Amino acid sequence: MERPLSGLLPREIAAECGFDRPFRGTQVFKWIAAGAQSFQDMTNIPAPERESLSARFPSLLGTTVDGRFRDEDGTVKLRLRLPDGAAVETVLLTDIEGRKTACISTQVGCPMGCAFCKTGTLGFLRNLEAFEIVEQYLHLTRMFGRPSNLVFMGMGEPLLNLAQVRRSVEVLAHPEGIGLSLRKITISTCGLTEGIRDLADSGPHVRLAVSLTSAVEETRSGLMPVNRTRGLADLRDALEYYQGKTGDRITLEAVLIGGVNDRSEDIQAIADWSRPLKVQVNLIPWNPVPDLPFREPARRAVEDAVTLLESAGIPVTRRMRRGRGVLGACGQLGDTLRAPD
Ligand code: SF4
Repeated sequence: MERPLSGLLPREIAAECGFDRPFRGTQVFKWIAAGAQSFQDMTNIPAPERESLSARFPSLLGTTVDGRFRDEDGTVKLRLRLPDGAAVETVLLTDIEGRKTACISTQVGCPMGCAFCKTGTLGFLRNLEAFEIVEQYLHLTRMFGRPSNLVFMGMGEPLLNLAQVRRSVEVLAHPEGIGLSLRKITISTCGLTEGIRDLADSGPHVRLAVSLTSAVEETRSGLMPVNRTRGLADLRDALEYYQGKTGDRITLEAVLIGGVNDRSEDIQAIADWSRPLKVQVNLIPWNPVPDLPFREPARRAVEDAVTLLESAGIPVTRRMRRGRGVLGACGQLGDTLRAPD
């Protein structure tokens, strides 16, 4: 099978297609971004070339949608079948103002093993290729209209697949194609400090979110195995480095789990730990996952956490509960997939 063109830049498409005029690569790139289904749609490509390329690339995309799940709150989850038969989920969230955000996966499964996350229970199969990342956005756009925001917060740890994430961002932000603003793209990590420093040094200069969840060493190590090798001091050091290079505010995500990390001393620890940084804290009440031994936080505990952080002078947002009806909310992805072999 030919290499799918959706993860390539215009000059690479020109080379892959054998065009002797480079602008043809840009034309094809634009058509793919515009949702063309085949070379036959590309009316500005000469007919003989369209014919031969259609034979070589019967489908422009390498992935297909083979599952579609819609929550009553408007959240949509798609299951994408990949060329090797593996699958990932991708989610479209729509907020109350109608703004659409694509929540994109970067790996099949995830090796990080966060205790509160469904994807972490699936194990890890492989990294996604750039075209498999870009096509999640293309499928969502074709089916539901163009998402204005993109977050790498689906299945997998993006900083473990940074080369393909970088390439997909280059494709998605390219002005001749989809042209997404880098400021509308967020990479979310569980705290891989070497990847955070790499991002600070070499970009892309997108927004950064970090799943902190607890600023108590023992609690964080229990919930997030990454903390056993990249502890809280290392993480804060990496974030200071990132902030020194970019000047950006960082989002700290805190998944609040009833009785585990939602007591006032837990929240105070987050406030104390965050103080040297320019951050905003996003509180995410844990979304239930069948078979995981946790409970949601009490509404009162979440309200108290907001009050405590605000009184410490830390901007705080509270994640709306969206997508739970289709297990498409934060930490729930993977129920439609079987564990990778
Ligand atoms: S929370 Fe993110 S990094 Fe942790 S197991 Fe789930 S997908 Fe992986």
